[in-house]
Amino acid sequence: MAKKYVYFFGGGNAEGNAKMKEKLGGKGANLAEMSGLGIPVPPGFTLSTEVCTHVMNTKGKYPNGLKTDVKTALSKVEKLMTLKYGDPTNPLLVSVRSGARVSMPGMMETVLNLGLSEKTIPGLIAKSGNERFVYDAYRRLITMYSDVVMEKSAGIEPKEGMGIRNQLEKELEKMKKTKGVKNDTELNGNDLKKLVTTYKKIIKKVLKTDFPEDPFQQLWGAIAAVFHSWNGKRAVTYRRIENISDEWGTAVNVQAMVFGNMGKNSATGVAFTRDPATGENKFYGEFLVNAQGEDVVAGTRTPQAINESSKTLASKHLPSLEKLMPKRYKQLEKIQKRIEMHYKDMQDLEFTIQDGKLYMLQTRVGKRNGIAAVRMAVEMCREGLIKEDVALMRVKPEQIDELLHPMLDPKAQKKAKILARGLPAGPGGGIGQIVFTADDAETWAKKGKPVILVRNETSPEDVHGMRVAQAILTAKGGMTSHAALVARGWGKCCIVGCGALNINVNKRTLMVNGKTLKEGDSISLNGTIGVVYEGKIPLLPADPEKNVYYKALMKFADKHRRLGIRTNADNPKDSKQARRFGAEGIGLTRTEHMFFGPDRISAMREMILADDEAGRKKALQKLLPFQRKDFIGIFKAMDGLPVTIRTLDPPLHEFLPNDADSQKEMAVQLGVPVQKIKAKVQSLHETNPMLGHRGCRLGVTYPEITAMQAQAIIEAACRVAKQGVKVFPEIMIPLIGTVEELENQKDVVIETAKMVMKRVGIKVKYLVGTMIEIPRAALTADQVAEAAEFFSYGTNDLTQMTFGYSRDDAGVFLPEYVDKKILPADPFQTLDQTGVGQLVAMGIKKGRSKRKNLKVGICGEHGGDPNSIDFCHRVNMDYVSCSPFRVPIARLAAAQAAIRNKK
Ligand code: PEP
Ligand code: MG
Repeated sequence: MAKKYVYFFGGGNAEGNAKMKEKLGGKGANLAEMSGLGIPVPPGFTLSTEVCTHVMNTKGKYPNGLKTDVKTALSKVEKLMTLKYGDPTNPLLVSVRSGARVSMPGMMETVLNLGLSEKTIPGLIAKSGNERFVYDAYRRLITMYSDVVMEKSAGIEPKEGMGIRNQLEKELEKMKKTKGVKNDTELNGNDLKKLVTTYKKIIKKVLKTDFPEDPFQQLWGAIAAVFHSWNGKRAVTYRRIENISDEWGTAVNVQAMVFGNMGKNSATGVAFTRDPATGENKFYGEFLVNAQGEDVVAGTRTPQAINESSKTLASKHLPSLEKLMPKRYKQLEKIQKRIEMHYKDMQDLEFTIQDGKLYMLQTRVGKRNGIAAVRMAVEMCREGLIKEDVALMRVKPEQIDELLHPMLDPKAQKKAKILARGLPAGPGGGIGQIVFTADDAETWAKKGKPVILVRNETSPEDVHGMRVAQAILTAKGGMTSHAALVARGWGKCCIVGCGALNINVNKRTLMVNGKTLKEGDSISLNGTIGVVYEGKIPLLPADPEKNVYYKALMKFADKHRRLGIRTNADNPKDSKQARRFGAEGIGLTRTEHMFFGPDRISAMREMILADDEAGRKKALQKLLPFQRKDFIGIFKAMDGLPVTIRTLDPPLHEFLPNDADSQKEMAVQLGVPVQKIKAKVQSLHETNPMLGHRGCRLGVTYPEITAMQAQAIIEAACRVAKQGVKVFPEIMIPLIGTVEELENQKDVVIETAKMVMKRVGIKVKYLVGTMIEIPRAALTADQVAEAAEFFSYGTNDLTQMTFGYSRDDAGVFLPEYVDKKILPADPFQTLDQTGVGQLVAMGIKKGRSKRKNLKVGICGEHGGDPNSIDFCHRVNMDYVSCSPFRVPIARLAAAQAAIRNKK
C-alpha cells in the first residue's frame, strides 16, 4: 500500500487523533481529535511531517501521489462545505498553517484566505452580500502571500523596515490617514478595493513578479512556503533555544476558512481554559469583533475580554463576549470545559464566530509561566483531574526558577517614578538599559550589559534579542501577543500593550508621558503588575515559601524522590538560604573561599611566603580561628544535617597578586621586600595549573595545611556539639588519583582529630571521604573505597580531564561544537552520560563492591542540572549537591527522575 501522507478531518470524523503528533504535528493531531469528538471544527486535512522530511531530503520534491491525495482530501472538504475551491460562483477559501510536533508559537508561517482572486471575488461578494469583507480578506491574502511566499520563502532579505509587508502596511496607514479613521474596520469596500490595486503595483515593483491569481498556484505556493519556513532563521533559532530536533519537520494543515471578519455578528479570539499568568482556574481570553485571528495576536487593535473576569486595565471599558454574544459565549464555555476535561491539562484555544456560528480552530496545551504551571498542577491534582506523579511531571524544573526570581524592591519601587503602565505578561522584576532592536540587544548583551528590549510589538524575528534581554517591553499587543507568549514560555519579565510608549527605532528614542528616553537609559519593570519605572530599582530575592502551591508541589516532590538533595555552600548565610529551600545537608564547602576575606588573605599570603614549615605553621595558626568560626556558623545553620567540608583545593598562586601595584601593597602589609613576592609569584607559576600543584597534592607536600583545617573542623564540631547542635562533619580530600594519596591525607586528619578530641574531652563522629574527579580515581574506585568512607563526584574536573578540555578555556570553542552538533550540549553544564557517565557509573559499582554502603553524591555543577540529576538517580547515587538557588529545582528534578524511571 502506498504510504499515507494526507489525513482528513471534519464533519465529526477524522483519520488522525491526538496521539499522532509526530506525524500530524500538534495542531493537526488536535484538530483531528476535536473533530473526532464532534466539536465544531472547519473541515480540512493535514500533510504529514514526513512530507516535510521528504522535501528536505530531496531538495524540494514532493512524494509521489501527493498532489492526487491533496485533491481527494480537498474534494471531501468541498463536499462538507458545499463550496468549491477556485469556483467563480461558489468559492471555497482555505488556510495553510504550519504545525510541528511541539508548538513553536509564531516561528513558522501561515497564509489565510487562499483561493481568493479577481475571478472568485464576485462569487464571494454575491454569496456574502458584503463587498467590504471580501476585499478585506483579499488585501490580507495579498499581504501574507507576498510576505511569506514571494519574499521570505524566495530567500529575499530586505533592509530593516523595507520588507514587503511593511511597505504594504504603510499604504494601509496612509489610507486610514487620508480617510481620517483610526481602525481598519472603518475603511469601506471601495477603500479596500483601491488599496488592493496599490498593493499589487507595489508587489510588482518591489518583487518583480505579479501576485498569482490562479488558486492552485496560490495553494501550492503556500504549502511549499510553510514547509520551507521549518528552516527559516527564526524557527532554527527557536529550536536551538528550546532543544528541538531539526529532523522532526513540520506538518501543514489545509483547512476551510471561516471568517471572523464578516461583520458585527462575527468575531475571532484566543482563550485559555485557565489563566496562563496566574494559573487560577478561570476561563480567560481575548477576542475582537469583525476581525481575523492575526489581529488578536498582532496587537494592532486592543482586544476585548471574553468575560468579565478576563478584563484588564486596557479592556475594562470594552464589552465582553459574555455580554455581547451571550449564547455563543455559553457554547464556548461549555466546549472549553469539555476540552480541558478531555485533555486533562490547560488548553490554549482559538475560535472564530462566523455570522453567529462558533468554530474551534485550534486547541493545544497552553504555554504558562512557572508560577501558573505550579498552581495548575497542584489544583488539577486536588480537583482529581490528575495524579500526583502527573502533576510533578507537568512543571519543568527550570520553571521553579521563576518562583525564586528576584522582584523589584517594594520600598524603592514606591518612591520610583512611574513611566507607564501595561499588561503584566511575564512575572518578576527586570532592570536594564533600553535597546530598540533585537540585534542591538544581542550585541549589548554580549558586552555584558543588561538590556531591556523595547519594541512596538515583537515578532518571531526578535527571539534572539528577547532571549538575552533582562526583560521585554512592548507598546502594543495583548496578553496573547507574541511577546507575551514567548516571555511566558521562558518565564521572563515582560510588559506588553504599554500604549503610552512612542518609539522611534531609527532615532533610538522613546517618548513616554512627555519624557524622552534614549538608547542606553536605564528603566525598571515590574512584570507581575505591569508597571514601568524610571531608572534602576534594586532587585530583591523572591520568597517562594509564601506560595502555597509551590509548597504543596515540593511536598509531592519530596514524597516521590529517592535522591537526597544537598547544597554547595561556603558560609552560614548561603547554608541557611539553602536549608529554607529544602537542602538536606551540605555536599561541598569549598574552604578556599574562606581565605579571601580582607582579614584573612594576609595570613594566607604569609603562609605561602614562609620559607619553612615553622613559618607556615605560624601563619596557619592565624588562619585557624577564622576557619573555626566559619565552620561553627555553618554547623549551626545545618544543625542535624551532614556537612561535607573539602580541604584546600586551588593552586597557591591564586592567592597572590599578579600586578605590580598590588604586589607593592602586599610587601608593605607583610613587611617584606617586594622582590621576595615577585620571586614567589614566579616560582609558583605553572604551565598547566589545573594539572599542577593543587588539591590533595598541596596537602601531601604541606601536611600542616590539612592539619590546620582538620583541627578547625573538629574544634568547631566539638564546640557546637557541646551547645547541643547535632553535627555530622564529613571531611573530603580533593583531587586524588591514587588510594595512597587519600591514605596519606586521611592519616593527617585522623591524627589531628584524635588530638583535638582528647584535648577538649568531647567526641564527635566524622567521616573521611574523597572527591572522585580524576579519571584514575574512578578507574581504581575499588581500591579508593577501601580508604574512603564516602565518594563525591567532582564532575567539573572529571569532565575537564575526561575530555581534555580546560574548564577555563573551553568557552572559546564549545559553543561552536554544540552548533556543529559535534557535542549535543556543553558537557560542563549537562553531564556527558556516554563518556564521563561511564566513569561515574563504573566508580560507583567498583566502590560499592568493596564498601557495600558507600555513600555517593555529586557536587560538580551537574548536581543542579535536571538531565544530569536523572542520570544520578539511575546510577544509584545517594544525593546530588547544588547551589542554594537550584535546590528546589533539584528536588523537583529528582522526583521526576524517580517517576520517569519507575519500573
Ligand atoms: C568539581 O571539580 O566538580 C568540583 C566540585 O570542584 P571544583 O569545581 O571546586 O574544582
Ligand atoms: Mg574539582
